[in-house]
Amino acid sequence: MARSRQPLIAGNWKMNGLRADALALAAGVAEGVRRAGWTDREVLVCPPATLLMAVADAVIGSGVLVGGQNCHADASGAHTGDISAEMLRDVGAGHVIVGHSERRTDCGETDTIVRAKAEAAWRAGLLPIVCIGETLAEREAGRTLAVLETQLKGSVPAGAAAAKLVVAYEPVWAIGTGKTPTVAEVASAHAHIRHVLGALIPDAGAVRLLYGGSVKGSNAGELLAAGDVDGALVGGASLKADEFLAIAKAA
Ligand code: PEP
Repeated sequence: MARSRQPLIAGNWKMNGLRADALALAAGVAEGVRRAGWTDREVLVCPPATLLMAVADAVIGSGVLVGGQNCHADASGAHTGDISAEMLRDVGAGHVIVGHSERRTDCGETDTIVRAKAEAAWRAGLLPIVCIGETLAEREAGRTLAVLETQLKGSVPAGAAAAKLVVAYEPVWAIGTGKTPTVAEVASAHAHIRHVLGALIPDAGAVRLLYGGSVKGSNAGELLAAGDVDGALVGGASLKADEFLAIAKAA
């Protein structure tokens, strides 16, 4: 029987890759996905904006999806250095990550800003991947679930529905550190996220919830099997085609 929530394995390349490396990586992922012929999962890569168009061209016909890592809330205007959701869409993106913890920390993005970016994604016809997650201090203070609830309520726009939203749970302390929560902790966080979403949107049971934070080929199987986990948002391990494909295979 087909799963109601199709797993999504998303690679966030962050600020990595010049043209040659990125095109080789894109070609490797595309080749692996083409060969696997998966129809029961989605594989997405989110390259730096400078490489989006070239990567989108390089993966055409493979089934690999392409997305942006961030967008501005406005469609156009006097925002030097920013990129709108419409611009991402124009060069082949179908998804955009919003509210990644690195942007919340580096650029001071608040829940309100993240919500406006998710709305901008809808306006442009993109699927937003809204990131939430607690810091180590918040976890140690026993505030994980409360933080997730606050971030969700602040970041998910009114009018959200499962077809228009993906949520990524990324504990900040697990990103790029090699540390991960236990499978039980991931399951408990995801169950809570789904519970909170239940009060916000009508079909919360169908929203895809990704886990992100030090996912690699060797731990993907157990993390992806945790309750309410519908895929992964992958940073470092998405920069190697074989490792990223191993994660996609585990989905
Ligand atoms: C991320 O930044 O979204 C991420 C999950 O990074 P990593 O996989 O490297 O921990």
